[in-house]
Amino acid sequence: MSKVDDFDYEKLLSLLPRHKILKPVDLSRANLPVWRWPPLKSYNGFTSDERIRNWKIGIYLLNIGAIKKPAHCDICKKVGSVGFHSENYYDIRMDPFLCKSCHTILHLRFQFPESWKKLAQMSIIGKETWFSILSLQEIDLAKFIRQNKSKYYPYPKII
Ligand SMILES: [Zn+2]
Repeated sequence: MSKVDDFDYEKLLSLLPRHKILKPVDLSRANLPVWRWPPLKSYNGFTSDERIRNWKIGIYLLNIGAIKKPAHCDICKKVGSVGFHSENYYDIRMDPFLCKSCHTILHLRFQFPESWKKLAQMSIIGKETWFSILSLQEIDLAKFIRQNKSKYYPYPKII
């Protein structure tokens, strides 16, 4: 799939949430959960290992109460069960929380763009959001962050 070079990566990073870490955490001593599923396909240029590492950190932080789940989905706003969604797998603090339905439609948007457009249009209320600017072509956010050697890379000391 083609990569979009003119995508506004900085804008996406600026629009993503910034969760507060609610207690001191030492990831080097953390007992991270085990990933029991096959490797993941890359998303936004992040490798399977990078995606899985972020998942482990997210679950760990939730388990110890260092991140609090919101009551509603960040896209459709419905109250109910939500889970992490990553655009930037280098920083768990930037992960929106989504319901299963929105999460699935978002990840399948390259194959089913109409479902995604419908959901995004219904959910955008006037202002720009991280999901209103998502591309329908795959982007390489991982490369952008690595190349810029920005504050977003390498994996931040989150505490
Ligand atoms: Zn939702």
